[in-house]
Amino acid sequence: MPEIIRDPSQVVIYDTTLRDGAQMPRIDFDLEDRIVIVGKLAQMGVDVIEAGFPFAVEGDFEAARAIAESVDGPTISALSRTRHSDIEAAWDAIEPASHKGGARIHTFIGTSDSHMEALGISSEAQLIEAVRSGIQKATEYTDDIEFSPEDASRTPFNRMLRVVLEAVDAGATTINIPDTVGFAVMQEYAQRIKVVKEQIEAKIGKGRVVVSAHCHDDLGWATANTMMAIAAGARQAEVTIGGIGERASNACEEEVVANIEERGDQFGGVYTNVDTSQLTPVYKEVMDRAGLPIQLNKAVVGRNAFAHEAGIHQHKMQKDRETYEHMDGEEYGQVPAEMVLGKLSGWRGVESRLKDIGITANSEMLIAISERSKARSDELGRRMADNDIEEIAAELTGEIVTDGVVFGSMVTSGDTVTVSLEDSEARPAGKAEGVSDKGSIDAGCKAVNKMTGFAGDIVEWSGISKSRGAAAAAGIYVTVAQNGNRVEAYAEDERGVDAASIKAYIKAIGLIERSQARLATTPSTENAKTVVAA
Ligand code: MN
Repeated sequence: MPEIIRDPSQVVIYDTTLRDGAQMPRIDFDLEDRIVIVGKLAQMGVDVIEAGFPFAVEGDFEAARAIAESVDGPTISALSRTRHSDIEAAWDAIEPASHKGGARIHTFIGTSDSHMEALGISSEAQLIEAVRSGIQKATEYTDDIEFSPEDASRTPFNRMLRVVLEAVDAGATTINIPDTVGFAVMQEYAQRIKVVKEQIEAKIGKGRVVVSAHCHDDLGWATANTMMAIAAGARQAEVTIGGIGERASNACEEEVVANIEERGDQFGGVYTNVDTSQLTPVYKEVMDRAGLPIQLNKAVVGRNAFAHEAGIHQHKMQKDRETYEHMDGEEYGQVPAEMVLGKLSGWRGVESRLKDIGITANSEMLIAISERSKARSDELGRRMADNDIEEIAAELTGEIVTDGVVFGSMVTSGDTVTVSLEDSEARPAGKAEGVSDKGSIDAGCKAVNKMTGFAGDIVEWSGISKSRGAAAAAGIYVTVAQNGNRVEAYAEDERGVDAASIKAYIKAIGLIERSQARLATTPSTENAKTVVAA
């Protein structure tokens, strides 16, 4: 039997976003979604991608086959029960990957009392016979075989141990201990992992079988249990992007990778091959394709993970970032140390936002802008975006702010959106069409870019409901980026979400144009326009 573990400090990242993650109720990935996601996972450096459950899940055979054909790099794995027809289907689906990064058969059988009963298996001998038979079948195709005793954490310890040792004897090279229903707590899960690893090593020696953790979040322990398993000797973590999956879902890949990256010394000096700077973009891509929102308060990749609103925090952050951050957002693909204006921000937050749009102000003016923005925020019942702050600064200084682009209307027909712009000082009225399969807002942005020559797009989008008795039907914040410039604009429109979004996009373009003009014409060393009280 070959030694298969090259480096005992590496934790293999086994991404099951497209198998366990895709089993999440109320979401669906089509084939195009899967191909795009897999490409990004491969680029990010995950080691193994579970491409589906080819025999059992409709569409998974074709999807797993397409994934195995399209990706080069990671090992592609397919799930199967121990029945030979399942194992054949799994191999047929992923066989193309065996000529590239590798192909793995992951076979499983339920080993807890309730699972055995549901399967009609009445004795341990019958269970072991099924496991040996399945793994022996898999060895006809590959020597990369993973075995999982499903519901391991509710399986009597000695039964679980005997079954996995039989699986190793039959040829399994990865032994996964799934906490299928998120029942285990840290100390007992770690104990299972530790004893499994010790017993396997006692049987066949070190470095021949990888022990793997697969945790669910039903009691909120998924990431903690995965990390404790690593501390106990597991060297593969089965995880999903955004922690998506069945019920309360799976261990979150971003959290597990960040824990290993930041605190790996506490878990045996471990590391992963993942390029952490891609975690946030990949999270956004997966959420977008799953039709799920970007969570504000998600660890590592959430919208607020590196954002600060409280005035006292903003003040200390300006002196030393480490006062309220222990990791660098940029290393995870985030905007680092972002200052958000809100109910708790002081003038320092205003100063930081104004600087980004090319305006510097003396302290007296900053306090005045800050007070007026708080009052306006209270009055309107929403936080102030960058275009609001610019407007308030202009009111106080007497600066005249003119939009170079003015939204008229938009008409959607299938994938095509026609946007009309009104006459403005900078541009005559006009209309253009945009096409996108990502939705009408994206198509509308493309139409606007055609008319304005703008080369950016919306990187963050959020809506607030203005429907309860308010005049406007939709209020939308968009964050727009172009060549390192990044601003947030807000707009309302009674015609609905699409119109409000395009209007906000156009406001953001105007704001970026004015910011660039201010930054370009300033002679001061601060490289920004200084305003004084009018
Ligand atoms: Mn699972």
